[in-house]
Amino acid sequence: MRIDKLLSNVGYGSRKEVKKILKGGSVAVNGQTIKDAKFHVDPYKDSVLIFGEEVEYREFIYLMMNKPPGVISATEDYHDETVVDLLDPKHSVYEPFPVGRLDKDTEGLLILTNDGQLAHQLLSPKKNVPKTYFAVINSEVTESDIEEFKKGVILDDGYHTKPGELTILKSGLHSDIELTITEGKFHQVKRMFEAVGKKVVYLKRVSMGPIQLDDILQLGEYRELTEKEIQLLK
Ligand code: URA
Repeated sequence: MRIDKLLSNVGYGSRKEVKKILKGGSVAVNGQTIKDAKFHVDPYKDSVLIFGEEVEYREFIYLMMNKPPGVISATEDYHDETVVDLLDPKHSVYEPFPVGRLDKDTEGLLILTNDGQLAHQLLSPKKNVPKTYFAVINSEVTESDIEEFKKGVILDDGYHTKPGELTILKSGLHSDIELTITEGKFHQVKRMFEAVGKKVVYLKRVSMGPIQLDDILQLGEYRELTEKEIQLLK
């Protein structure tokens, strides 16, 4: 890969801007100053320093975000802020996209990656990847709801859902629950509760497959997945 392309890809500016940096003598490849924008490097093998800092080049990037409410899980939107707008340029340069969608008002775990194959695996209906949500419901959730969800419920469009595993954490005028489903139909959790005459008033995803939302992440914060987490996903 050309050195100017590599440096531009990882966020050091346009090809023109990078050319200027190169001319200024601030780039070294394997210890040798390189001024020629056409110089070829192997981004995985060569040591590239810019302003004395090592350039880290990766093909794929994997992030977990604690999605805040009010933000759209998409790469662009005409009206609202998107989850990609929350990323540091050093991550957005790899053009990650959200794996699946959370509603605008839903919080919690969102994985972002530029690894299309992995995203496809996680979203494929055939893979039955479990997703667990914490929710607050506007009324009492009962044992009979657990049984209904176990059988699958019929949504407003007539679709019969696969079984959902419902756990009541606190029951009362407002109930706290956890629900694990293996599908990702539009507004699925909200519509499953509507099917039993109840309303979700707060929704947060806490896990997706083997990945748990890291408690350390405040709303809107994100971190890279660890090597171990990436291996678990594959
Ligand atoms: N189910 C919903 O209803 N909304 C989400 O954002 C995710 C699952």
